[in-house]
Amino acid sequence: MSIKLYDYQEEGIRDIYNKWKYDRKIILWCNMGGGKSEMAAYIAQDASSDGMPIVMVVRGRELVKNLSRRLDKYKIDHSVFMAGHHRLDKSKLIQIASVDTMKSRGQFPFSDRDCIVILDEAHKDYSLIFEKYKSQFILGLTATPFSDMSSYDDYVCPIRPIELVEKGILVPEEIYCPHVIDTSSLKIVAGDFHREQLAKLVTQGEIVGNVVEDYIKYGQNRPSVCFAVNIEHSKQLRDEFIRRGINAIHCDASSSDEERKFAEDSLLNKSIKVICNVDIFSVGWDCPMVSCIIMARPTWSLVWYLQAIGRGLRSFRDKTNCIVLDNAGNVYRHGTPYREREISLKKPEKKIKRDKDELLIRTCIDCFRIYESSELCCPFCGAHPAPREIKNVNGMLAKYYETEEEKSERTIKEAQIAFYKLRWVASSKGLSNGWIKEQILKRYGDKVMPYIEQLLRIKSR
Ligand SMILES: [Zn+2]
Repeated sequence: MSIKLYDYQEEGIRDIYNKWKYDRKIILWCNMGGGKSEMAAYIAQDASSDGMPIVMVVRGRELVKNLSRRLDKYKIDHSVFMAGHHRLDKSKLIQIASVDTMKSRGQFPFSDRDCIVILDEAHKDYSLIFEKYKSQFILGLTATPFSDMSSYDDYVCPIRPIELVEKGILVPEEIYCPHVIDTSSLKIVAGDFHREQLAKLVTQGEIVGNVVEDYIKYGQNRPSVCFAVNIEHSKQLRDEFIRRGINAIHCDASSSDEERKFAEDSLLNKSIKVICNVDIFSVGWDCPMVSCIIMARPTWSLVWYLQAIGRGLRSFRDKTNCIVLDNAGNVYRHGTPYREREISLKKPEKKIKRDKDELLIRTCIDCFRIYESSELCCPFCGAHPAPREIKNVNGMLAKYYETEEEKSERTIKEAQIAFYKLRWVASSKGLSNGWIKEQILKRYGDKVMPYIEQLLRIKSR
């Protein structure tokens, strides 16, 4: 089978070659479903046919196997650069390798000459590769270029995520935020919630129960993937699903190929409804029939958030959308998945860029779905929001070491998140603004109150 490319992919490849005339390190930013692997395979085949050596680098043996299968599908001759592998042949122009193998063996094919290095999941740390291939051409593939991308000179984005929805390759999302986990007590370490504290919080019986309850209420019994904080949490969720009469299984990165295949088949033949897991996408797992994503893990990582939701966005048969049950409140931190995002090739600043990254979303007070606040009323049920044009200012970039100043900024953000949640509680129970203020004061102290007052003022305008 030869590689058939869409127009936008051909254009993207032309762009890449063009940029390589001036710069060496280029990102291919393309959403899942956009076919960046095909584009990479095409470039490998095309450039090697002109005698240019290619190194395709992935993370982990699992992904080496996947990549080798894909190249075989297109009849692209290659070597698997792995000790003792029957397809290891150093004379071949295309070498595929795991970065761990290269590191442990201290061998970097073609690093002494001109070559093209193609990096899979380029948002991850490849500093070693950049060190070894200083003057060579590098193409970094990623759907989520939102971590430190400062090693690259430029990028190509052949198609925006929302255009893939218009083409029918991806489906739109439908987000619900009924029970949101209150993370205000958690510390931030290295840019995300303190792991142990988070694990302790989310494994409380009530919170586990809420996740399952929301699935029963809003999940429409759909084939689902539920993202947990850790293995114990995932198993707890599985047990709770089963206790409530919903068949579920647990999977994690250590599950074998067979176990993952079994999970997938069971979803397809409807013998289970939910796969509870921890970071299952990290092993390249993909299952388009999934039409509901349950997020039980709060995170400040935009990359993680987009990858988790992404598991449900591929189109499949008569699937028209993907329900996202955001118990984690992540949409308040990162916005809706198809929101236009910018890429930055600078080193990320430690400082929070609140003004630049405003989120304009709203939770419907009636149906608890999330929608853009530019809409005058809820596009799903027609309910009018109580306030008009409230700006949610919780957008935040990843943080590294939290200073006192950052800590107070975060407290303000968390209080603002809590405000939106309390507001719907208040409106559904007929409680006053005074009640909201009292709750915020109790949890966050008086320093945040001016910001809450501000939100209340915008509301009454
Ligand atoms: Zn609504």
